[in-house]
Amino acid sequence: MSSPENEPSFRESTEIMFNRAVRLMDLSPGLVEKIRICNATYKVSFGVRLRGDIHTFTGYRSVHSEHMEPVKGGIRFALSVNQDEVEALAALMTYKCALVETPFGGSKGGLCIDPREWEEHELEQITRRFAYELIKRDLINPAQNVPAPDMGTGEREMAWIADQYKRMNTTDINSSACVTGKPLNAGGIAGRVEATGRGVQYAMQEFFRHPEDMKMANLTGKLKNKKIIVQGLGNVGYHAAKFLSEEDGAQIIAVLEFDGAVTNPDGINIEDLKSHILKTGGVKGFDGGIYHADSEPIMEMECDILIPAAMEGAVNLKNADRIKTKLIIEAANGPVTSGADEVLRNKGVVIIPDMYANAGGVTVSYFEWVKNLSHIRFGRMQRRQEETRHQLLIEELESIEGNHLSDSFKKKYLHGAGELELVRSGLEDTMRASYQAISTMLHSRDDVTDLRTAAFLVSIERVAKSYRTKGL
Ligand code: NAD
Repeated sequence: MSSPENEPSFRESTEIMFNRAVRLMDLSPGLVEKIRICNATYKVSFGVRLRGDIHTFTGYRSVHSEHMEPVKGGIRFALSVNQDEVEALAALMTYKCALVETPFGGSKGGLCIDPREWEEHELEQITRRFAYELIKRDLINPAQNVPAPDMGTGEREMAWIADQYKRMNTTDINSSACVTGKPLNAGGIAGRVEATGRGVQYAMQEFFRHPEDMKMANLTGKLKNKKIIVQGLGNVGYHAAKFLSEEDGAQIIAVLEFDGAVTNPDGINIEDLKSHILKTGGVKGFDGGIYHADSEPIMEMECDILIPAAMEGAVNLKNADRIKTKLIIEAANGPVTSGADEVLRNKGVVIIPDMYANAGGVTVSYFEWVKNLSHIRFGRMQRRQEETRHQLLIEELESIEGNHLSDSFKKKYLHGAGELELVRSGLEDTMRASYQAISTMLHSRDDVTDLRTAAFLVSIERVAKSYRTKGL
């Protein structure tokens, strides 16, 4: 989605928001500059022989801040990838990691490519070659720089990258930790694929536990029956929409995709729509709603919650004025430009910022990295021991005359937590604690009036503290 000409670039937009927050802090100008600036961006062009000819591809890996190492951030495959975008995304990673307390600096990578143009074996060759270029410069390394999936990449690409690293570092016992978001059978962790969307769900649930924040958005009640519009039914959008509709009872009244939009005032069945997209390549022809070739007006429909989950700049100076939602949760990175942010704030729309809203991905990536370094699946040592202790208690309670525990209670109570349950528990705890830190900041200061500025304040303060402690 193109932004108007007078709109700053994604990186400038991120900096405008950063500057707005940092003005409220008591930091030396030198430290502010150190935090704001992107440390390094590596650009590489490499050739791959494909279809009888040599094709040249251009990629980037940007390191924003190394106040903690390794640095972390996804690798994106899209034709729109450019240095400005990669640097903006790397900066967001720094703030995101600090906000949700994952011990990483910020980084991001991208390759200018339309993955749909290439066969799987060709994509593997291209990905491995890009990974080779980054690995030999330690821009992929378990101790220094750990990528993850982003737009256009997923488990498959991460498995190729991990394997490429292993081929080039055969004696590194921690090689699996060089990248996260891998398939389960290649060193991945249960719950990583759903993690970002699951995090969006936990963020929404936590927001609805804060009546004073709901009041700012003019929202009452619970998530049930809230009307939601989602842009982008990819990894993040699909999982968020699925969990919010199936588990919390919200109604997804519109889904916008690259080939148009589908609306249904009674709620769209997300599983059916996703199957249709996987079968046909788009939303057109889906019989569970009305198809609209032009999706732009659909984003401007009245709803309670808007979830932009596709790409940056979706809400910009062109359409911000016409957006009729009460709450925006930024599942994508940078979906609201700095200009639109101001327009929406003035209209009273509450925005849950990207650096918090989509942090579920990096949180579970952190768990995966720890799992890889400890070489053992979470729960493997404790699960049966926990079940045995619970069994003991149940037997003791039932030995008391007249005491009977229901079968359903016993089943639930006896079940020891496996990896997926532990990952979800850790993710939920992270999303709840981080929201509470943001909300507390918002309500403890008169000069902070929005969640984004509050999130920046929490996060920049932590990065600053880290620089102060370790020196430069
Ligand atoms: P994805 O490639 O899986 O999904 C993106 C979806 O958006 C696709 O379905 C695509 O068809 C759709 N789309 C593209 N252009 C569109 C348009 N103009 N209008 C409507 N839909 C459009 O990507 P993803 O991993 O879900 O990432 C989406 C966003 O979330 C990005 O901003 C990414 O940086 C951010 N994010 C992703 C993760 C993760 O774990 N994957 C983590 C944090 C943040």
